[in-house]
Amino acid sequence: MCGIVGYIGAKQAYPILIKGLRRLEYRGYDSAGVAMISQRGALNVYKTKGKVDNLTDYCTDKDVSGSIGIAHTRWATHGEPSARNAHPHYSQSHNLAIIHNGIIENYADIKAKLQEKGVAFASDTDTEVLVQLVEYIMSNRSLTLLEAVQTALFQVIGAYAIAIIDKREPTQIIVARKQSPLVVGIGESEFFIASDASPIIDYTDKVVYLEDGNIAVIRLGEELKVMGIHGEEQELKVKKVDLNLGQIEKGGYEHFMLKEIFEQPECLTNCMRGRINVEGNQVTLSALIDHHQQLLGAKRIVIVACGTSWHAGLIGKQLIESLCRIPCEVEYASEFRYRNPVVSKDDVVIAISQSGETADTLAAIQLAKEQGAFIYGICNAIGSSIPRATDTGTYIHVGPEIGVASTKAFTGQVTVLSMLALCMANKLGTISIERYRQMVSELTCIPKKMEQALQANEEIKHLARIFTYAKNCLYLGRGYNYPVALEGALKLKEISYIHAEGYPAAEMKHGPIALIDSEMPVFVIATRDRLYEKVISNIQEVRARGGRVTALITEGDEQIKQYADHVIELPDTLECFQPLIASIPLQLLAYHIAVCKGKDVDRPRNLAKSVTVE
Ligand code: GLU
Repeated sequence: MCGIVGYIGAKQAYPILIKGLRRLEYRGYDSAGVAMISQRGALNVYKTKGKVDNLTDYCTDKDVSGSIGIAHTRWATHGEPSARNAHPHYSQSHNLAIIHNGIIENYADIKAKLQEKGVAFASDTDTEVLVQLVEYIMSNRSLTLLEAVQTALFQVIGAYAIAIIDKREPTQIIVARKQSPLVVGIGESEFFIASDASPIIDYTDKVVYLEDGNIAVIRLGEELKVMGIHGEEQELKVKKVDLNLGQIEKGGYEHFMLKEIFEQPECLTNCMRGRINVEGNQVTLSALIDHHQQLLGAKRIVIVACGTSWHAGLIGKQLIESLCRIPCEVEYASEFRYRNPVVSKDDVVIAISQSGETADTLAAIQLAKEQGAFIYGICNAIGSSIPRATDTGTYIHVGPEIGVASTKAFTGQVTVLSMLALCMANKLGTISIERYRQMVSELTCIPKKMEQALQANEEIKHLARIFTYAKNCLYLGRGYNYPVALEGALKLKEISYIHAEGYPAAEMKHGPIALIDSEMPVFVIATRDRLYEKVISNIQEVRARGGRVTALITEGDEQIKQYADHVIELPDTLECFQPLIASIPLQLLAYHIAVCKGKDVDRPRNLAKSVTVE
């Protein structure tokens, strides 16, 4: 996820590009860059690590003239955040420059082939292969820029929104999109491009939202031309933007948290992209290729994490133990670091953190490292401290999470843990090949099932009103759904300030059952799995004490409806992937209760997004 902007017209491009980047900074902010073709025909590229302010400081004494330009604010996926990896990227001759949002899955193959032909690369990104490939095709086959882009895109697997300029043709920008957003704004003798309409609305309200597979040629003095992948001309669908800025940045959602909840199907698709093959029956994680000996040779796995990441870790433990048959423990990083734990060189420590900066998790990594353990990181922020401190790892690739209460990072972490456990189990031979294939295939269906679960939003919004005045809530689940109960309770606490407890359903009778009365809402995750009958008994125990039960059930389950006051139906999946689906209604419930209570959902009191203090 990143922000892209472009301009072509009679005005100076630089101020428009910078203003646009600032509007898009919410999409990524680890580095930023601009490229302009100056009046004298030079293609100037300037880029810096960090936020847009760093870029403008850097550019104060540079030639930023020109009426055509492209700009980018990055959320790194391939290559650490640095000036060298920031976009725009030049082609080898410096005639072309490109910006890109997305992931080129087969970049390594293309890069190797181009290197064999003598092309020299200047970055570690997947993006650079595109511009180098376009240039290679142009010069070897004497094609125009448009033809070369079309040819190159046929060779590329992955997701992209791109804009490319050529200093020899300073009146043209070529753009294309597949699975990443791109909007073209049409002004009076000028055009704008951007990842969303927010950088455009100051200048024009006429926009064209490119569709998947579209390529557009933007030429000064001509009409915008949109074509399909084979060059077939498309009808121009000009729309009027009618949104305010706040709405646009939040994609029309009232809060970032709600946007991020709804983004999850897309985020998990991104997380699995390039890791699960097109047939959907095989997972490959580069960490396991590079370090298979250390990972597969683990005598024990210790997961260290805090907060929501710790809940993801509890799910990871069950996946690893049941699929790989390796003993696995889950530790609060803050406890682990101070209690002189037994760690050996046969241990693999998995550190989970959305920001990659969690101070306690970093300290736990340090301690485990000193004792010889092999460290594997699961993070979202590329190039952050934890990925740098670990031996290897896997990014969750869910894009920047702005809402303080984590949602998409949690499901991203669980997805990576699922892929890791499946990949290891397959290599260890601890599950049959048929089971492995069936499970991988089911994992690829999760984004669709999440979409289905999200359809309960209105119903949950309605339910939320009933619970707005609750003082305490209990969340119950068993097996894979126990961490879901913990996470559901944490979401409610974090943003609505209602006291909530997550408990293993069967443990309730050892204490918390004393709390139950008609004032205590009880949320039970009661999907059809191995423990279904047991959970029904737990529900009966609550009912017998006057408790009000809201049950999350597998769609079509009529039996449980007799015992619950309210039910929320969920699409069926394998038991081990149920947390990915069951978390959705609990996130929505916490969100709507907090909204009903008038709380600041995206900035809850006393909390911070990245906990860099211990
Ligand atoms: N994959 C590209 C990179 O890492 C683009 C990432 C993005 O969409 O921000 O540079």
